[in-house]
Amino acid sequence: MQDYDPNAMSVAKAKLFIQQYLSPLTECETVDLKGSLGRALAEAVVSPAQVPNYDNSAMDGYAFNSLDLVAIGLTKLSLIGTAYAGKAFEQPVQQGQCVRIMTGAMMPSGTDSVMVQEKVSLENGSVCFSAPPNSKMNVRYAGEDLSIGQTVLPQGHLMQAADLGLLASLGIAKVKLYRKLKVAFFSTGDELAGIGQALKIGQVYDSNRYTLYGMLSRLGVDILDLGAIADDPVLLEKTLLAATQQADVVITSGGVSVGEADHMKQLLSKHGQVVFWKIAMKPGRPLAYGKIGHAHYFGLPGNPVAVMVTFYQFVREALLRLMGQAHPLALPTFHVVCTEAIKKQTGRTEFQRGILFTDQDGTWKVKPTGMQGSAILSSMSKANCFIVLDEQVGNLGAGATVAVQVLHGLI
Ligand code: AMP
Ligand code: MG
Repeated sequence: MQDYDPNAMSVAKAKLFIQQYLSPLTECETVDLKGSLGRALAEAVVSPAQVPNYDNSAMDGYAFNSLDLVAIGLTKLSLIGTAYAGKAFEQPVQQGQCVRIMTGAMMPSGTDSVMVQEKVSLENGSVCFSAPPNSKMNVRYAGEDLSIGQTVLPQGHLMQAADLGLLASLGIAKVKLYRKLKVAFFSTGDELAGIGQALKIGQVYDSNRYTLYGMLSRLGVDILDLGAIADDPVLLEKTLLAATQQADVVITSGGVSVGEADHMKQLLSKHGQVVFWKIAMKPGRPLAYGKIGHAHYFGLPGNPVAVMVTFYQFVREALLRLMGQAHPLALPTFHVVCTEAIKKQTGRTEFQRGILFTDQDGTWKVKPTGMQGSAILSSMSKANCFIVLDEQVGNLGAGATVAVQVLHGLI
């Protein structure tokens, strides 16, 4: 990273630079299964049991021994009872017999296959098989999902809804997680007013703390909102130091662009090792990253869209690594046709706001949200993706294929 130019830093290089300083938290805690959602496992989970625990029926139907029908060639079996889920069917099944069985019920001893109920007819206490059966059909075998001792989830895995169910299916009530990451943030700017106050001339409402709150909440970190701080070196210093003492990560917005950056820049060089870049991207050109004491510091631009773009491009993945995820997935990216022309300057990566939609044929396409200024926060609100246009890309006509990063998840 010796050769980087702080005045034209590429998005990829800045990401790589930051990445080398990110070692995950080491402290762990044991938490009830439900509380693990969205957090990273501090140790691998190994299966203490097999799933399913016993051979059971995948269908409502009739359990039989395939030898009776396949080898011996019987077509009629006598019905000796019913096997229900949650209860063992005690009586062994002899040659020529079958048992009515419900989905999930344990296979009675002496049976190995289940014929679905729609494919048989009943006749005086006997079951007639019309369709020729396949042996071992419609049975879920013990251990076919998970076997004992198998690694179910690796260390560093970020717990999802399916994982809660998976561990519950093994009877696991508690899991060992990395402790929650603490993230402090504050806005900077003389012009900022708090919501609920009347705006004075020249003031704007502080929106960055709200978008940051939203994005950080979705990541599941502990949040410390330190407010909006005027461009006053004494106040900024006090707040910055308080933040670095209490949190693992400190995020500020505003005050990192040239000219106005002086307070923050001086403070950061006094108290830590922070680099200031002009990233070759739009929005989000000014960006600072470094360490102040033990805390990681991200100085995001002030413009509301730039805050969100830089958060998603640099901060999100960094936080996931610090939270203990070894290989965080980048935002899902794929290529689609853009239905409108796009204006784009070469020499920088642009993250235009887009709307992914399906056309009449059900094909996914994208269109820009409209005005793309870095202060147009409504563009972020309308968007469900970023249209990512690489440095070498220039203006594009309607119908061009573009890369999109999806912003919305399953919920
Ligand atoms: P700065 O990076 O401090 O020069 O700010 C760039 C632009 O973003 C200016 O128009 C600021 O008024 C605006 N801005 C900075 N911080 C915020 C904030 N917290 N909420 C809304 N707008 C902001
Ligand atoms: Mg400012």
